[in-house]
Amino acid sequence: MEIYIFTIFPEMFTGIINASILKRAQEKQLITVKLIDFRAYAPSKHQNVDDSPFGGGAGMVLKPEPIYYAMESVLGDIQNFPGKILLMSPQGEQFEQKMAWELAQEKRVAFICGHYEGFDERVRFLADKEISIGDYVLTGGEIPAMVVIDAVCRLLPGVLGESQSPLFDSFYDGLLEYPQYTRPREFRGLTVPEILLSGNHAAIKKWRHKEALRRTLQRRPDLLQKRDLSLQEQELLSELKHEAEKK
Ligand code: SAM
Repeated sequence: MEIYIFTIFPEMFTGIINASILKRAQEKQLITVKLIDFRAYAPSKHQNVDDSPFGGGAGMVLKPEPIYYAMESVLGDIQNFPGKILLMSPQGEQFEQKMAWELAQEKRVAFICGHYEGFDERVRFLADKEISIGDYVLTGGEIPAMVVIDAVCRLLPGVLGESQSPLFDSFYDGLLEYPQYTRPREFRGLTVPEILLSGNHAAIKKWRHKEALRRTLQRRPDLLQKRDLSLQEQELLSELKHEAEKK
């Protein structure tokens, strides 16, 4: 996947793209990351990227020209860009795992990071989609872009090692992940459930499925409402409800 990031703070990305899984993905040539400082494309002598809002009001707004010029220069004809252009915005569609899977199908993804009070409304015409990472306001679109890049890249084939798989993560099939344990078997009196030590793979699978349902029921019942429950899941859920009533 080719990733293009349009930002006035490219240095914010260096830590995240040069460590861990994103670093490895670049080394394996599974992704390329191009950081574009759109300040360099500002037409004014002082390379201004922002200005005060027409009509008055607080703060500064990103001007359209530096962003348009940078994107046209790097991506060519924006209308025919063979990928997705994403604008980071608290007003956008909420980013979720499903969207991460959709974006992971793309060959090219470009991110526009707003800053200050936001961007001139005409910047919106450049984007295929506006993405919000949640109902709160951050200083800039850099952290939201990092969140999306990280979530998407780990889904690309070959990015996670063989031993890891996004297929068992929370949200993959609409449930939260079951509890995980590793050595030691006992720590400060807290023990690992016997079944995980049993070597009975079918029983472990069933236990994990039930625990994923339990966790989802306790923490995110809204996810269960959206899900087409299998017969087995309906049975497991009624078991869980009985267990809760007994307590
Ligand atoms: N005044 C803008 C508004 O109310 O919609 C918010 C501007 S915010 C301080 C600056 C930039 O940070 C935004 O243009 C956007 O790129 C980014 N940003 C802030 N919060 C975000 C969020 N929750 N999701 C995605 N991007 C966000």
